Formats: sequence, structure tokens, C-alpha cells
Amino acid sequence: MSLRSMLDRAANGGRLSFDEGVRLYLEADLHDLGAAAHARRVQLHPPDLVTYVIDTTVNYTNVCNVHCTFCAFFRPEHHREGYTMSHDEVLARVKHAADQGATQIMIQGGVNPELRVEWFEELFRRVCAEYPHVDLHSLSVSEIVGLARIENLPVRDVLQRLKTAGMKSLPGAGAEILVERVRKRISARKVKPEEWIGVMREAQQLGMPTTATMMFGSIETPQERIEHLNIIRDLQDETNGFLAFIPWYYIPYKTPLRGKEATGLEYLRVLAISRLYLNNIPHLQASWLTPGLKMGQLALFYGCDDMGGTIIEEQVVHDAGNTNEASRRDLEEAIRSAGFKPAVRNTYWNLREEPVLSAH
Ligand code: SF4
Repeated sequence: MSLRSMLDRAANGGRLSFDEGVRLYLEADLHDLGAAAHARRVQLHPPDLVTYVIDTTVNYTNVCNVHCTFCAFFRPEHHREGYTMSHDEVLARVKHAADQGATQIMIQGGVNPELRVEWFEELFRRVCAEYPHVDLHSLSVSEIVGLARIENLPVRDVLQRLKTAGMKSLPGAGAEILVERVRKRISARKVKPEEWIGVMREAQQLGMPTTATMMFGSIETPQERIEHLNIIRDLQDETNGFLAFIPWYYIPYKTPLRGKEATGLEYLRVLAISRLYLNNIPHLQASWLTPGLKMGQLALFYGCDDMGGTIIEEQVVHDAGNTNEASRRDLEEAIRSAGFKPAVRNTYWNLREEPVLSAH
């Protein structure tokens, strides 16, 4: 089959086989790939709108017993640079974000064996009581599995307890590349691919919205990138629980693994193939935090319909050597100057009434 006919089929929502995905990823012209991805995005969502969420990330602890080689953020237990925020410190950061209009809070950190499930329950209850209009889109599969191990509880029970305490949605963090060969090199002590899938399935069965992610550009092959997409697509066929897919690239500068940063063209190619391959996932997010707002604008022509969040505060990607920052106004201006109308959404990807900022 020709590349053109594969692109046309995928642009209309048709399904690509694994081999077709690999072939398109490796051989299609970047602009053709982008045009097909954009055509699909226009079919799925209002063509003139690009959404974003007002949010922040609170990295409550950098203590972690998983020790991923691509991570510059974590410190092993008892390290002098390790920190864990108190509940009051986390609440102060939530207040700072809520005062700026945030409706989504991502509380995420290392897998710190000192913290028990009650610590999170109490924290989440306080956040929900004091800031009822913010949604906790928080923790990660690694933190959930870490808690299940410490507590000797099934993952489902941990998720249910956290949900009862106020956690609304589970982010897709910790997926990296869901291929064992890659994980052995970059995150040998982290959850196995089948565990990541299992936790997501449990969260989705409990009615939590979730997102899926991919951190690419470490040591994986192009085929392994498509394998990752295939795993996500299969789970979505089964559960329909992913609202969005968010690929970003590895920042190597201060990590033990080192290596090279992906190019902008590679980022756009990954976005476009993701939009085309994941024909069952509604949203594709431009993760401007790693490639910057200018690449974020280009991403809007390679399949993305969402610009992510304002991320008022963030430490993990920053510690790996990333220095990108953007205010709400910056995000809106980037969306406008790319030719789209900004629209504020919530954690469930529903549009909010809130007016966007004026252009000047
Ligand atoms: S990526 Fe997450 S799990 Fe891995 S070392 Fe860093 S904080 Fe720990």
C-alpha cells in the first residue's frame, strides 16, 4: 500500500496496523504526516479552538526509591538534598495557584517510602475542603504502586481510598516507553509495562478520567515508539478511559543517563504519528514545557488541539535542565498568534465559562 493511501485512511480516522505505523513514521514526508494529522484533528474538534487548563504542579517530595537513570529530580532516601513538603507547604502552593485561577492541581513526586496512604488522604481532604473548585489530577502509576507495596494493599484499594479522599483523575506519568527492553535501561526498578496498564485499567474502572503519556528520545528505537502507541491504543479499545495522549521528549542535561535531546522535527513527527495512530483517543496535547512555546505553536498544526496547562510551578523537568516558563497570558498569546482562539478547559476536558484574557 502506498504512503499516500495510508495517510488518507488515517486522516479520516481509519486504523493503521503496527507495520503501517512504523512505515509512516520512518518514511512519510514530515509535512504530509503533519497535514494528515491536522486533518484528523480538525475532524475531531472545533477547528478554530485550542484549549488549555489553568493548573500547577506541586512536586511535594524528591525522595524516591526507584532511581530512574533519566531523572535528575529524585534524591535517594536520607540524601542531604532530599525534601518532603509538609501539608501546610503543599496547601500554600495550592493557594498560590488557586488565587491565580487554577482549577487543576497536579500533586506529584518521587516514590517516598516514608509516606503512607493516610498522609495522602489527609492532604487530599484538606485541599478539597479548602479549595472545592480545584480538581486533583494527581500522583502517578509509580506512586500508586509504591503505596500499594508499602501498605500491602491491592492497587484498587489504594485508588479507591484516594478517590474517596478527593483525587479526581490519574495522570499518565511514568509510562515513558512501555517496552521492557527500554525500561531495563532507563527505569529498571519502576513498574513493568503490564503493571502500568493494570493500574490505569483499575483507575478507569473506578470511573477516574486518565491521560496517557510517552517520554521519547532516550534509548528506544522508532519501532518501540510505535509499540508504545499500540499498547495505549489496545487499552483504550478495551476501556475508553484515556481523555488525551501527551508525548514529550527526554531532557538529558543533568541526568545519569545523559544522551542527546530530540530535535524539533522529531517532536513534530512523533506528534503527527500519535494523532494518526491513536484513532480512538480524543485529545492530543502539545507539551510546551519541554520544547518551548514556539514549538508548541507548531504542534497545533501537527495534530494537537490542546496546549496543556499554565504549570504555575514545576520542578521535575526544570531539574533536568529545562528552563521554559509561560504565564497564562503567554499561553493565550501563543495560541492566538498561531491563528486559533484560546479556550479554558477543566480536568475533564470540558470548556469552562471563564473568559479568556484580552489580547492586549
Ligand atoms: S522519574 Fe519518578 S519514579 Fe523515576 S526516579 Fe524520578 S521521581 Fe522517581
